[in-house]
Amino acid sequence: MYLSGYIVKRKNLYYYKCDNGSKCSCHISAAKLHERFMTILNEITLPEKYIYLFQLQLRKIFTTINAEKEETAKLYKAKLTELEQKIENLEERYFRKESIITRKMTNLEPQTLILYSRSLQT
Ligand SMILES: [Zn+2]
Repeated sequence: MYLSGYIVKRKNLYYYKCDNGSKCSCHISAAKLHERFMTILNEITLPEKYIYLFQLQLRKIFTTINAEKEETAKLYKAKLTELEQKIENLEERYFRKESIITRKMTNLEPQTLILYSRSLQT
């Protein structure tokens, strides 16, 4: 269940309406609801003496969350390096084969080369 806001232009006032499917169609003025919400917020306000402890705890939680993310990032970086190495190896193998073919072809008789190039064109 959630609330959605709308404006009544005639009165230039904002309201919330209850979006509970078709079960409910209650609405309430935004000003009234905000006031109630402030009351709730005031009740759960952290007492001054706990603020520092709360900050410490939050910092600890964030550090833990970030440590896990950094660990994941490290794994991805290692995987990336591995894949880049594989690409490099493949490229080297490809160029070595190509240069062998080129070397073989330059040793061929000119007549054979002409025949070969014709066979490529067809
Ligand atoms: Zn309702």
